[in-house]
Amino acid sequence: MLDNRPQLPTEIARRRTFAIISHPDAGKTTLTEKFLLFGGAIQMAGQVRAKGEARRTRSDFMKMEQERGISVSASAMSFDYGKYRFNLVDTPGHSDFSEDTYRTLTAVDAAIMVIDGAKGVESQTQKLFEVCRLRDLPILTFCNKMDRESRDTFEIIDEIQENLAIDVTPASWPIGMGRDFVGAYDLLRDRLEIMDRADRNRVAETVQISGLDDPKLAQYVPADLLAKLREEVDMARQLLPVFDRESFLNGSMTPIWFGSAINSFGVRELMDGMGDYGPEPQIQTAAERKIAPEETPVTGFVFKVQANMDPKHRDRVAFVRLASGHFERGMKLLHVRSKKQMAVTNPVLFLAADRELAEEAWAGDIIGIPNHGQLRIGDALTEGEALRFTGIPSFAPELLQGVRALDPMKAKHLEKALTQFAEEGAAKVFKPMIGSGYIVGVVGQLQFEVLASRIEQEYGLPVRFEPSHFTSARWVSGPKDEVEKFVNVNKGHIGQDSDGDTVYLTRLKWDIDRIERDYPKITLTATKQMM
Ligand code: GDP
Repeated sequence: MLDNRPQLPTEIARRRTFAIISHPDAGKTTLTEKFLLFGGAIQMAGQVRAKGEARRTRSDFMKMEQERGISVSASAMSFDYGKYRFNLVDTPGHSDFSEDTYRTLTAVDAAIMVIDGAKGVESQTQKLFEVCRLRDLPILTFCNKMDRESRDTFEIIDEIQENLAIDVTPASWPIGMGRDFVGAYDLLRDRLEIMDRADRNRVAETVQISGLDDPKLAQYVPADLLAKLREEVDMARQLLPVFDRESFLNGSMTPIWFGSAINSFGVRELMDGMGDYGPEPQIQTAAERKIAPEETPVTGFVFKVQANMDPKHRDRVAFVRLASGHFERGMKLLHVRSKKQMAVTNPVLFLAADRELAEEAWAGDIIGIPNHGQLRIGDALTEGEALRFTGIPSFAPELLQGVRALDPMKAKHLEKALTQFAEEGAAKVFKPMIGSGYIVGVVGQLQFEVLASRIEQEYGLPVRFEPSHFTSARWVSGPKDEVEKFVNVNKGHIGQDSDGDTVYLTRLKWDIDRIERDYPKITLTATKQMM
């Protein structure tokens, strides 16, 4: 991955842009909190939640988020850790938001996979891992909750190797578990880390030792656990691959750390791992060419749009991953899709405490650009070059429902709300050619509830979602005259998405197969590149 690459400018080389993936409840929020704590972004753990709490009182949508225990909106946070600048991009944890998550993962260079030591690889971890795999993202694994009864270390490693088909190399080895958990042996640096149970926000005590034969070990580790540790590490060294940075960077090997996020244990070692071994900002792909981070002109792409972050202003924030260059506030950038210049005067850097005005940013950083709807997912910003970044897909929704305003006088408002959510990427909205109303498509059932709740909160508009007689949507492409012919014959099944592109709506998989046979020049696709 890094072969034959020039050395990056220091400011770029020190950046680590990553996401944390996990199954709900494995400890992602707790780990995030500790990252922010050790990154100096918050003073005390518990703030992420406390701040979340305060935010949640503002709307039902947020309350729902709380009741369901899911986090719906992704955000990005930047902080310094040692000589590194970490950009942590938060991913929604619930499977109903996988599309959002997928897009978030197009903006990062690496991922941390958190698993619960008692539960191993759970369904959502597996799904998210597959998405990372599609992009060959380097993955660091954190096996959490070692202060509880957990599985045998070899069993956990085996499960990851088997289920995820990735080589696993232990970066640390746990000593004891549950009530007897003492700490871990740092295999990469030959150190002993002792967990402090008394103070959850304190970092573990580290003892420098010369190896597993060091007599000092006996002062810290009970004899039976020490014997077991020596035996296990010996076996691990024989059976498991050693850390190889190249294999890690190309996504075929994951180092695993064992720890307890809530006890701040193993977290710093994981952060050090991300800093010291993690990837620098990577080359990004556009349809025209590849973009290297060290190129001087600024380029970037929008991977997420979030509306109504501040209920007082009906603004939207477009999250932009900078692919290259050194950005400075006030810069004029070309919005490639509209071919218009945009003066970026009030970009936001997401420092954990609050949004902060960004004076400068480098390749690898995530900046937020407040706008009135011009910026959409997939859009490119450059200093003049007409680039189209690739790899940000739009998925065909798996569930379709009709929607109507309970107050028929407010149909216009509904249209506005739906258009906005479509642009935000929160749902697909189709206008059928025949009949009135809209059909809304999502990836997971829960999204309908979130949408209904948001439309009511943000637009004061109670709505009802109801079953639609369509169950699938496919984008239609082909030669213009063929598409026209096709549309004319199938009017009852045709709709337009929010970009004006033609979709074919149906309830039968059989229909889709039939069309592929009857109209060989027409292509029906389940994804479309958003550009
Ligand atoms: P998320 O859903 O993945 O964000 O998980 P949370 O961070 O909210 O954690 C889920 C639950 O596990 C919470 O009750 C945490 O307090 C608890 N938890 C997190 N880390 C640890 C840990 O290291 N040990 C123990 N025993 N509990 C933990």
